[in-house]
Amino acid sequence: MTELERHSYDVVVIGAGGAGLRAAIEAREQGKKTAIICKSLFGKAHTVMAEGGCAAAMGNANSNDNWQVHYRDTMRGGKFLNNWRMAELHAQEAPDRVWELETYGALFDRTPDGRISQRNFGGHTYPRLAHVGDRTGLELIRTLQQKIVSLQQEDFEATGDYEANLKVYAECTITELMKDGDAISGAFGYWRESGRFILFDAPAVVLATGGVGKSFKVTSNSWEYTGDGHALAMRAGATLINMEFIQFHPTGMVWPPSVKGILVTESVRGDGGVLKNSEGKRFMFEYVPDVFRAQYAETEDEADRWYKDPDNNRRPPELLPRDEVARAINSEVKAGRGTPHGGVFLDVSSRLPAEEITRRLPSMHHQFKELADVDITAEPMEVGPTCHYVMGGVEVDPDTASSVVPGLFAAGEVAGGMHGSNRLGGNSLSDLLVFGRRAGMGAATYVDQLQERPKIDDADVDAAAADALAPFELEGGENPYTIHQELQQSMNDLVGIIRKEEEMEQALGRLSEFRSRIAKMTVEGHRQFNPGWHLALDLRNMLTVSECVAGAALMRQESRGGHTRDDFPTMDPEWRKKLLVCALDADGVVNVTEEQQIPMREDLLELFEVDELKKYLTDEELPAK
Ligand code: FAD
Repeated sequence: MTELERHSYDVVVIGAGGAGLRAAIEAREQGKKTAIICKSLFGKAHTVMAEGGCAAAMGNANSNDNWQVHYRDTMRGGKFLNNWRMAELHAQEAPDRVWELETYGALFDRTPDGRISQRNFGGHTYPRLAHVGDRTGLELIRTLQQKIVSLQQEDFEATGDYEANLKVYAECTITELMKDGDAISGAFGYWRESGRFILFDAPAVVLATGGVGKSFKVTSNSWEYTGDGHALAMRAGATLINMEFIQFHPTGMVWPPSVKGILVTESVRGDGGVLKNSEGKRFMFEYVPDVFRAQYAETEDEADRWYKDPDNNRRPPELLPRDEVARAINSEVKAGRGTPHGGVFLDVSSRLPAEEITRRLPSMHHQFKELADVDITAEPMEVGPTCHYVMGGVEVDPDTASSVVPGLFAAGEVAGGMHGSNRLGGNSLSDLLVFGRRAGMGAATYVDQLQERPKIDDADVDAAAADALAPFELEGGENPYTIHQELQQSMNDLVGIIRKEEEMEQALGRLSEFRSRIAKMTVEGHRQFNPGWHLALDLRNMLTVSECVAGAALMRQESRGGHTRDDFPTMDPEWRKKLLVCALDADGVVNVTEEQQIPMREDLLELFEVDELKKYLTDEELPAK
């Protein structure tokens, strides 16, 4: 039998970003003994890197804002492919979740009259992002961690043990979920430092593992984002949806090569920054698609007036949803109007006084000065698209965040549906608060209803340990770093921002070769902190996720949001009705099948003008008026 340490919990939360922490707080507050497990250091997650803010229709900066407007913007941003119930809950509950954070100790930037200030972002009709300069994620994580400490202090008062009901296991990676029959019974993993195995016995697991960006070469994502939660869910029998939709953020750094892909926050554009090509032209006016034409300015004068008088002018096209801006930048560069390093110019220096730039965008100022020796108060930045966010994820019930596997829940970026084919900036931080809480509640309710606690079978533990150790067993195989680099390059080149049938077929061919190569790779050394081994384990997950992305992208014969087909360049209302569902078959092969969307509830349909709905829906889906 495998030698390991064992722990027993009611709820295990995998991931300590915003979704995981909010889920854990909820589960603990519902009386459940809860573990939080994270692969990296506690506090180091994508959530902490979020810059721009958290979208919530509080109406502080413009009193016309409300949940219905936020709902409409989110559905438009996702090109109506979103799970409408998730978008509804998100728009309705986000303001409460932001207020709640202040009760935990957060302090957002203020309006002159003392309310939470809100900033403009792409695709949001009104200034809606609650923020703390351009370091919003840091405040969010700091506050959620502070809440966890306060709950641990309560537990200490009651039991004499701070970690009696809520404990963090940091630098601990989960490699497999355990099941008893159909239901979840726990999670298996290893300590990154010692390489020793660890087993959590728990009837409910919440996945909050974030994104998949490390499957792509140019990405804003950091090392942990290898799609572990997506792959763990699939191996446990859950389904993923919307995996063809990858968000390429329009503005990543392009120079120097060592920092290529690092994010340049959308707040730069929200606060007045403009995009220009090498000819000095503000090119976004050429790229406003028909579906958005009525809402965006046609001239530079009107666009500039909007910053001061948004009620009487239309917004600048630099603030179109991210997919539109990313495609526009891609086209400019391809047409030979790019910058010396293959991007376009993002200029805020000619738009705001220097002290205003350093006050509003301190991290960006620091980032460019330190990494590229560019002073953004005096010169433009060079930027280009970078793989940023995955809209696809675990198929969940909107109200409880439960997957199709009993006891398995998912929230935050690892869950699918909420953002449809394209996420609006700022909607992730609010998503993870709204659905993190719901996942914690869902898991607690599930545990309460259980008649019997599911058990872990020793044979499954031995199998998980053998799988984890397999890369040490083979001699003379390939090194995981080489395979990773080739996988990233293939995904970037063949399933990137603009997709073609023959290239995606080529990608699937290469992925199948990677599968055989991964089965034969070799890891040198021991189990004590061994990054090569860690990568070898992560690679299996990156491969599964890449197969889902490429497979679903090949199948979807239209262009929508974060999925652009050169050979099918327009949106097709028939395809909007379909979700592509990824599951593993008995041999562990990714299968992609079609599922019909549930039609939007009548009262939500009525929030839109019929003329707008006609751009997205088939005739029979339109309201009967
Ligand atoms: P994360 O915060 O990504 O956390 C995932 C957690 O899972 C981590 O703790 C990780 O260690 C853990 N984990 C992963 N795999 C395992 C495993 N196998 N075992 C154990 N633990 C594991 N969104 C906005 O709304 N507004 C913004 O301004 C914004 N800015 C952004 C800026 C940057 C640079 C980036 C990269 C993203 C930004 N986003 C923004 C997106 C947003 O930050 C993320 O989508 C969001 O934080 C995801 O939160 P999460 O809780 O789902 O996961």
